[in-house]
Amino acid sequence: MPSWPQSTGVTNGQPDGTISSARILYILIVTRTRRYTDTAKSLARTLLVSLVPSILASRPPDRAPLCSRDQQPHHWRKKVLRESFKTSFEAGEPAPWPCPHCGKQVLLAEKNNVTATETRDSRDARRHEDWEPEWIEERFTSTLTCQNCGEIVVAAGKTNWEPQWDYDEGHELWGQVLSPSFMEPAPPIFTLSNYIPQAIRNEIRLAFALFWVDSSACANRIRSTVELMLNELRVARFAPAKKGSRRRRLSLHARIQKLPAKHESARKFLMALKWTGNDGSHAGEVLTREDTLDGFDLLAHVSKELWDPHPAALAARATEVNRKKGVKKPRP
Ligand SMILES: [Zn+2]
Repeated sequence: MPSWPQSTGVTNGQPDGTISSARILYILIVTRTRRYTDTAKSLARTLLVSLVPSILASRPPDRAPLCSRDQQPHHWRKKVLRESFKTSFEAGEPAPWPCPHCGKQVLLAEKNNVTATETRDSRDARRHEDWEPEWIEERFTSTLTCQNCGEIVVAAGKTNWEPQWDYDEGHELWGQVLSPSFMEPAPPIFTLSNYIPQAIRNEIRLAFALFWVDSSACANRIRSTVELMLNELRVARFAPAKKGSRRRRLSLHARIQKLPAKHESARKFLMALKWTGNDGSHAGEVLTREDTLDGFDLLAHVSKELWDPHPAALAARATEVNRKKGVKKPRP
């Protein structure tokens, strides 16, 4: 595709992390020499200053900061979908999502399985005197194949070309990044365990598909998942009929309020999902993928809390062991 050279010579300027790295190295050296004289500290400082140019020269420009405590994500953030979920992939590299059929993360779009065509606006933009390859926008279709089970996923969306560092060749090149706005069948955004009732799993799969297409519609589907959860938990759908009048359908809000006390801890999660879905229904209120990923985080948690049998089984086992005061059966 590109008519421009593979190596662009693009530089991103001085890497942000380098100065932080130098600062930390400095602190380490000074800390190590704390017990020694000012001369030793001065020597350490001189040594560090001499190291900085070689650090700057040795780092490729797009590598993550060497070490910067304030820039490294907190451990818990890695577990939050919103922070870790990828919405783009590269041809020839494993896609960052599990296979919808077998759950293994080995979906791959071969480069010859991607068809991309430049958009009209992008072609027009080439006439601009400041044009550069990063301005290119294309529409693509692609087929991803699971390397484990052979499942096929069709993806369509837009592409961008981004400067990337080729570690093998030691220079920058332009890489095609594919951002789907449609996936069929959609990969699971979180693991759908079998302990979640089938009807709820089906509804969540529809939400997974809408994630790529329309965030507000996706939030609405998450809200309807809450309705199904309440049905599964046998929460009443209608208020008792008054004499001489028809029975009245309860709002989702009222149904969540009626959740049995044993599910008290799930109530606030279901309520948050209801509010998320409500926002998706309001005209002019445009939700983002980050909003829906927040919703999926809550949904994954509350599904586990309501239907995962393992905590209850473990609690029963602990009670049994405590009652017997050991793991062996009492001798006859
Ligand atoms: Zn598979």
